[in-house]
Amino acid sequence: MTTLNSKIPKGPIKDKWTIYKDKINLVNPANKRNIDIIIVGTGLAGGSAAATLAELGYNVKAFCFQDSPRRAHSIAAQGGINASKNYQGDGDSTYRLFYDTVKGGDYRSREANVHRLAEVSTNIIDQCVAQGVPFARDYGGLLDNRSFGGVLVSRTFYAKGQTGQQLLLGAYSAMNRQIARGKVKMYNRHEMLDIVLVDGKARGIITRNLVTGEIERHSAHAVVLGTGGYGNAFYLSTYAMGSNVTAAWKAHKRGAFFANPCFTQIHPTCIPVSGDHQSKLTLMSESLRNDGRIWVPKNPEDAKAIQEGKLKPTELTEDNRDYFLERRYPAFGNLVPRDVASRAAKERCDAGYGVNATGEAVYLDFAAAIHRYGKEEAHVKGLDENDTALVTKLGKEIIKSKYGNLFQMYEKIIDQNPYETPMMIYPAVHYTMGGIWVDYNLMTTVPGLYCIGEANFSDHGANRLGASALMQGLADGYFVLPYTIGDYLSDDIRTGPISIETSEFEAAEKEVRAKIDKLINNKGTHSVDYFHKRLGKIMWNKCGMSRNAKDLKEAVTEIAELRTAFWKGVKIPGNADEYNEELAKAGRVADFLELGELFAKDALQREESCGGHFREEHQTKEGEAKRRKEFQYVSAWEFKGEPGDATLHKEELKYEDIEVKERSYK
Ligand SMILES: Cc1cc2nc3c(=O)[nH]c(=O)nc-3n(C[C@H](O)[C@H](O)[C@H](O)COP(=O)(O)OP(=O)(O)OC[C@H]3O[C@@H](n4cnc5c(N)ncnc54)[C@H](O)[C@@H]3O)c2cc1C
Repeated sequence: MTTLNSKIPKGPIKDKWTIYKDKINLVNPANKRNIDIIIVGTGLAGGSAAATLAELGYNVKAFCFQDSPRRAHSIAAQGGINASKNYQGDGDSTYRLFYDTVKGGDYRSREANVHRLAEVSTNIIDQCVAQGVPFARDYGGLLDNRSFGGVLVSRTFYAKGQTGQQLLLGAYSAMNRQIARGKVKMYNRHEMLDIVLVDGKARGIITRNLVTGEIERHSAHAVVLGTGGYGNAFYLSTYAMGSNVTAAWKAHKRGAFFANPCFTQIHPTCIPVSGDHQSKLTLMSESLRNDGRIWVPKNPEDAKAIQEGKLKPTELTEDNRDYFLERRYPAFGNLVPRDVASRAAKERCDAGYGVNATGEAVYLDFAAAIHRYGKEEAHVKGLDENDTALVTKLGKEIIKSKYGNLFQMYEKIIDQNPYETPMMIYPAVHYTMGGIWVDYNLMTTVPGLYCIGEANFSDHGANRLGASALMQGLADGYFVLPYTIGDYLSDDIRTGPISIETSEFEAAEKEVRAKIDKLINNKGTHSVDYFHKRLGKIMWNKCGMSRNAKDLKEAVTEIAELRTAFWKGVKIPGNADEYNEELAKAGRVADFLELGELFAKDALQREESCGGHFREEHQTKEGEAKRRKEFQYVSAWEFKGEPGDATLHKEELKYEDIEVKERSYK
């Protein structure tokens, strides 16, 4: 049986990474030229890793299922990326970023990894600026910052509401240089469908060319997964439509433990669901909470009138509004962490105070910020500060310069002008803290198989703070993996090329083909989406923002039954040897249907509330999450034939540099 060894280096926390780097084995430049690395996924994590490993001299084969790495889900990231540069002089430091991240994750992440993340965060900004990433700058030309939830400093670097896109263009340019040099061979429109193990080590993958349907074998000395998160198990989410769990799930089935699958982030500021026809949800960046104030009507009658369209939010006076985050959490106000803000919004809506026709929305209001900025601008320009029309005009201009593209997006979707009337928002699935278990080296429980970015169980514990996913993905890709993988590969300098003509590759390819044949020849009666939507409903209703043992037990059974129904009843048109989006989707949903069961099983065993995982049985009198010491571990699941049979391994979490205490934002 595999046992967990997190391989945390010895020494004081602030020196661990340095000592580690000084002691690891290196591969000399001539030998790097003889070593191949497969990287599946070219979002921020995979793209930055591919560029860096190729720059170091390794031969990289990179894969993504889109037509270009530029279309990875990372492109959607809006708000920003954290780094403890302390440019604002507001008291930031490596320790504070480390502390905030561990606390924000509700003390369910590994101290050593998080400290390393905080240490390298500053390098990321330098690297990206050198690449030409156009981070926002202040009037004097210096890099600007804003604040995100769960922190008391401004450490978020941003490029308007398009930070992910700009960072991805940086990583993509760096990777393109290596593609041009022949050091990275890029396989677009290729989907990884299995991992190949030879003598217990990851030595290759099986892919399907999504354009021609061709099944291919690819070999390497090590395989890296940077394949993103699995929030689309919920069907409706803020993820890109193609985001999926397939690569991670196949790795799990080949021996990689899956950690904390139930830790999902439900983001408080998304455009509310409008009906059953919807296939996608849209995020309104957390950066908006810097200036937007969240409220619902104070009186239920007003909420009802708003729901029925008889009253407008702008008609409600200040005394009749409940700024519930400011009321409940005066220290952090609208900038409490996401899990806290989401639950507080749900609580108000469940109590009948929600707005929108569905009653499942709260307001995010910029009127106060428009007024504040407008007055300041009028003052600066020596204009009349009491001229309301002028102040409003000036204020709107400032808000537009900060969040213009987000406001435009909102208006296009909802057909309301958020400069004039408050936005409506509601929590939605946004990120998965769970993922493939990795040790300090980012290696999974399969030797030679690494996992980076959102796909691993990451540094975010039970709740990720805003702007820290980009930080982690780029830390992994640019600054961590390039060291740690060398230590492993130093044993492979005499191995020579890995053949694909072996029984292991043949067996894996056969399995992949058999599954595709089964799907395409099924001739059932329902579309893939029919099953995906049903899965999403179970996930949202029973494994969503708040969970209890009864619902979770039902979810385990219902998901298993739905999986059986899927394999009996799914219908996929077309053929396997052609471009067939429905076939690709079917494979992904088949894997979600397995992961979903493990997700519910994991949530059921975690008899505590922590971060994004809220168990109704474990809450304080005030309705806050109640953590339990007995659950201070990472749950790492080993696959045993069926998702329901997976066995639990625990990585105990020790906190030596941070005191574990009540997570208060009051
Ligand atoms: C709307 C939105 C806004 C966000 N804003 C922020 C923000 O402001 N700040 C922040 O820090 N975080 C933000 N996030 C989170 C952040 O964007 C993601 O966590 C991060 O970009 C994930 O990067 P990644 O490289 O790990 O994965 P991804 O960008 O998801 O890339 C996955 C890659 O894997 C490939 N892939 C997947 N499966 C396969 C397969 N089977 N075969 C081949 N290739 C495969 C894909 O083609 C893709 O290249 C936001 C997320 C959303 C949804």
